[in-house]
Amino acid sequence: MIEVRILGSSAGGGFPQWNCTCTNCSRLRAGTLHGKPRSQAQVAVGLGGDRWCLLNASPDLRFQIEATADLQPQAKADDEIRSSPIAAVVLTSGDLDNVLGLLTLREFQPLEIYATRSIRQIITSENTFFRMLQRVNPQAAWHDMKPGEAFELGFSQESVARCELVPLTGEYPEYVSQETRATLSPEEAVVALKVEVVSSGRRMIYCPALPGISDDLKAQFEACDLLLLDGTFWSDDELTRIALSQRTSRDMGHLPISGPRGSLEVLSKIQRPKKAYIHINNTNPILDEESAEFMSLTAAGWGVAEDGMQFSL
Ligand SMILES: [Zn+2]
Repeated sequence: MIEVRILGSSAGGGFPQWNCTCTNCSRLRAGTLHGKPRSQAQVAVGLGGDRWCLLNASPDLRFQIEATADLQPQAKADDEIRSSPIAAVVLTSGDLDNVLGLLTLREFQPLEIYATRSIRQIITSENTFFRMLQRVNPQAAWHDMKPGEAFELGFSQESVARCELVPLTGEYPEYVSQETRATLSPEEAVVALKVEVVSSGRRMIYCPALPGISDDLKAQFEACDLLLLDGTFWSDDELTRIALSQRTSRDMGHLPISGPRGSLEVLSKIQRPKKAYIHINNTNPILDEESAEFMSLTAAGWGVAEDGMQFSL
């Protein structure tokens, strides 16, 4: 069995967001919203033996580690002042919301980082700050993973989890130059992560950005036991309607929850997995637990992830 901890459940910006006066953020600050504040999306997976793997590295990571006793350092010997149960990070995209937390982990701590070759390349070569992770040896050890190819996470004699990056149809982040973009593999831009417990075969899929659902992806969702899915926006026009953006939810690489061909409708028949929406934008009405939208998700068997939530796989 492995433990899955939700350390953060909101989309980039958090909830409330520092510069936002949308209905949700204003009501949360005023104490009139029946809902909870959320830090930016971050999941940790327990691999046994006090070893943990982070799924992405959020800008709120330092605070999230301090809020989670199991992720804090435990000195093991008199001469070992610095240590961490965090052994690895798996990246699902190069978005700042997923990688800025790596800089929080820069204090000369050995760390295994698993990502596609393209994501590794844009992080380490386009952003010189990240060289702070390569100052000593051992420090960050990058592993280039091909989508569809299995890799194992363990850190003891036996592997605990078998993982696989599932290619999605997303885009590279805006900070990547056109020149570099032309050299990168399109299927390595945004991936979901499948984690299978070696001892039981139970499976989780973590998919904080879901551009669309192919038949193959739907079959993979149907076959898993825990699905943590992109819940960024409720509706396709959520930001355009309040003039916050010219881009729809789909334009931004996030299939909306509601509406025709939204994730709620497309996945309405899947029965097997326990399922929860995560990576929820502060404008999303499901953050209000008295809203019709929140209640319709609950009625459809979906949970809404919140910070501190735990699952066993
Ligand atoms: Zn807001």
